[in-house]
Amino acid sequence: MAKFVYYFGNGKAEGKAEMKNLLGGKGANLAEMTNIGLPVPAGFSISTEVCTYYYANKKTYPKSLAADVKKSIGKVEKAMGAKFGDLKNPLLVSVRSGARASMPGMMDTILNLGLNDKVAEGLVKKTNNPRFVYDSYRRFVQMYGDVVLGLKPVHKDEIDPFEAIIEEKKKLKGVHLDTELTADDLKDLVAQFKKAIKEKTGNDFPQEPMAQLWGAIGAVFGSWNNDRANAYRKMYDIPESWGTAVNVQSMVFGNMGDDSGTGVAFTRDAATGENVFYGEYLMNAQGEDVVAGTRTPLPISQLAKDNPKIYNQLDKIRKTLEKHYRDMNDIEFTIQQGKLYMLQCRVGKRTAFAAIKIAVDMVDEKLISDKEALKRIEPDQLNQLLRPVFDLKEKEAAVKSGRLLAKGLNAGPGAATGRVVFNAPDAEAWKKRGELVILTRIETSPEDIKGMDAAEGILTARGGMTSHAALVARQMGKVCVAGCSSLDIDYSTHTMKVKGKTIKEGDWISLDGTTGEVIEGKVATKPSEVLQVLVSKTLAPKEAPVYQQYAKIMSWADKYRRLKIRTNADQPDQALNAVAFGAEGIGLCRTEHMFFGEGKIGPMREMILADTVEERKAALAKLLPLQRTDFEGIFEAMNGLPVTIRTIDPPLHEFVPHEEAAQRQLAAEIGISYEKVHQRVESLHEFNPMLGLRGCRLGIIYPEITEMQSRAIFEAAANIQAKGIKVEPEVMIPLVGNVKELENQEKIVRKVAGEVMKEKGVKFKYLVGTMIEIPRGAITADEIATVAEFFSFGTNDLTQTTLGVSRDDAAKFLIPYVQMEILPKDPFEVLDRVGVGSLMKMAIEKGRSVRSDLKVGICGEHGGEPSSVEFCHEINQNYVSCSPFRVPIARLAAARAALKDAPASAAKKTAKKSKKK
Ligand code: PEP
Ligand code: MG
Repeated sequence: MAKFVYYFGNGKAEGKAEMKNLLGGKGANLAEMTNIGLPVPAGFSISTEVCTYYYANKKTYPKSLAADVKKSIGKVEKAMGAKFGDLKNPLLVSVRSGARASMPGMMDTILNLGLNDKVAEGLVKKTNNPRFVYDSYRRFVQMYGDVVLGLKPVHKDEIDPFEAIIEEKKKLKGVHLDTELTADDLKDLVAQFKKAIKEKTGNDFPQEPMAQLWGAIGAVFGSWNNDRANAYRKMYDIPESWGTAVNVQSMVFGNMGDDSGTGVAFTRDAATGENVFYGEYLMNAQGEDVVAGTRTPLPISQLAKDNPKIYNQLDKIRKTLEKHYRDMNDIEFTIQQGKLYMLQCRVGKRTAFAAIKIAVDMVDEKLISDKEALKRIEPDQLNQLLRPVFDLKEKEAAVKSGRLLAKGLNAGPGAATGRVVFNAPDAEAWKKRGELVILTRIETSPEDIKGMDAAEGILTARGGMTSHAALVARQMGKVCVAGCSSLDIDYSTHTMKVKGKTIKEGDWISLDGTTGEVIEGKVATKPSEVLQVLVSKTLAPKEAPVYQQYAKIMSWADKYRRLKIRTNADQPDQALNAVAFGAEGIGLCRTEHMFFGEGKIGPMREMILADTVEERKAALAKLLPLQRTDFEGIFEAMNGLPVTIRTIDPPLHEFVPHEEAAQRQLAAEIGISYEKVHQRVESLHEFNPMLGLRGCRLGIIYPEITEMQSRAIFEAAANIQAKGIKVEPEVMIPLVGNVKELENQEKIVRKVAGEVMKEKGVKFKYLVGTMIEIPRGAITADEIATVAEFFSFGTNDLTQTTLGVSRDDAAKFLIPYVQMEILPKDPFEVLDRVGVGSLMKMAIEKGRSVRSDLKVGICGEHGGEPSSVEFCHEINQNYVSCSPFRVPIARLAAARAALKDAPASAAKKTAKKSKKK
């Protein structure tokens, strides 16, 4: 019979860390911690297969489940020496979700389950602590009422209905803190909660513990499909099919008095990566108090002073876990009457800064290899290192002039400036209309996830470094200042008071997530440390620790990657940036971008409006020296690295004005009539310009354009070579679908190359190749490769033409397509491996069948997107080319692809060998 329930307790578990798919991260790690001898309260995990079954079978369970759960409860009862529903010694349990990938706070949790009116009375007798009992009971009813019975706020500005009742009670009693409420107050809250649930939802709060348990299990499985979990899954690519496990675990109590407490910690600092024990705890509290941010907790260093015995035990566990998992962990613990229990451990989320520092440090500490370090850093995380920080002078000036509003916790590093909004839906709406926003909340909750994603930065009045806001912001790579208690936020008026000032919705503020400062107004930002070292060269590497770590990671990446990384650049400064980021050549220089530069658009338009070949040639003659200077700049900047230059590509109408006034001005400038300009522009109109007179078709119809461009390239090459700089031009013909097109253009290019060499009396190496960006080009790649010395996939056009989806008009339906899961991703962002990818594979195979050393690259936008880079590695390309700022990302992605591929290619070799036999 299938096994659905896995028990853990008393030092032995049926599961283990490797069983995450089945038991979820939390369940698998509870089992692992039990097995390595850490103190874990007994419990059991209901597997993710049950979740899958639940959704596939109209929200019902496998037949054997009820009996398994009952049996497992029995085992827990035995281990804990307590009984479910017993009046003398009751067992209370927590019921928590736990998916394969951590989804912090997205699904539901219920604590203290098993309490009812009678059990509560019995527990009062047993513990002699009525306050503890009724505090636990009111928390249980509150959670159960919300999660299972559905009493929630109905409007975005409304506060939680249970919190409203608590606030009312506190007001009535004239107290400020929850802890000041008496046992009787709490008992009364229980009654009021139950009444509110009944009145507002029609549901009765169940008294029978087993009924409570099944209600909670159903709610946790149900929460796999709530809005916030769905939004989170979309954001982090977690497939819906994975499902969640449900963990039922014996409760231990951090709210049993001053010798009890609860906390969360990271085995290293999750924001900076520093190798220090980092966490927070609260005495006489339950876990939710720490995470929800309703009380501001104490730093873990305080525990070393207040309770050295427990601190030392925890510190030992910290070391055990890091050694065992060889990674930074985050943990949850509870101290019940002086005894420590571990409630969770998992590999901890971290900022990009921390991920890099921890990976580099762990290599130094010999905990992991450099390969492992590379596998642990997501290429996109490098984006965070390239983000701006505040201009220090500007910030100092702002602080000096009294604009420092407050200081909170530096929960998510970086600099953000934006306009204040007070709720998540507003953050989303403002962002949609192009505003930069700072989401400002008393505290955030998982419901705020989309608003947090829309915000530049997040500011909260309550909560610590491990509060929801802090955790989620770090994971998203958002700037965050948390626990800024001097903010007096009023949701109803959309204002906050701070330092005697009133900040209204829409006012500008700036957050320094590295120091925790909140500043009124805008503050200018400055490039990241990495950029300061590499690009502006205003910082020495030895004074830039973040840069040093970045450089180490990059050097390891370069050691393992096979793909070369080039860049798409058409200006010398762009090219220089890219080289600083490690680019090994230019993979695409779009010459048409150059025509918009100083002094060039005039002759360009003259050329387009010309009636005769002679007129066109005259205009081109004016363009020639300008283009030549452009290419000289590029060759000089690339200093010997290969440069791929593409001949003109876009339809000509993109270069001419369409409004009457501008056309009249152009007519006056070149001395022809407005009517003529107008008529010529009209004649350039095409119904489908992307499929019209563009790409190589332009150079075929107007060969003098290709001639001029080739001449500019080769003259520049000769001139730069004369300065002692090596030059390797690669002339690339776009939009080729037929070998004859390429033959036509190649002939012109080679003729001009010969002429220039002769005229200048020099020799230089050059290549002629093509873009593969329409399906026929890929399909006939074996013909095309007889002429082309290299291929570069133009996957922007290849996606457009393969899918028959206009790259300029697709947003309208691609976004819904992705939402409806018709497409897994926007194919213009992440390469469509199945469709476009198949054509690429075919093109490489066919191309190399006639030219075995055919060089193959990619220069569409996919060249800097990690999963697409991985695909390019898999199909054996020589290089990828991407925008300068994505070069580091591509380097890392290429290394990770090579490492992932290593065992497979070893296997392939073995397979080949055995075939030969
Ligand atoms: C492409 O089509 O992928 C490409 C690089 O060319 P462009 O984007 O200039 O059309
Ligand atoms: Mg293209």
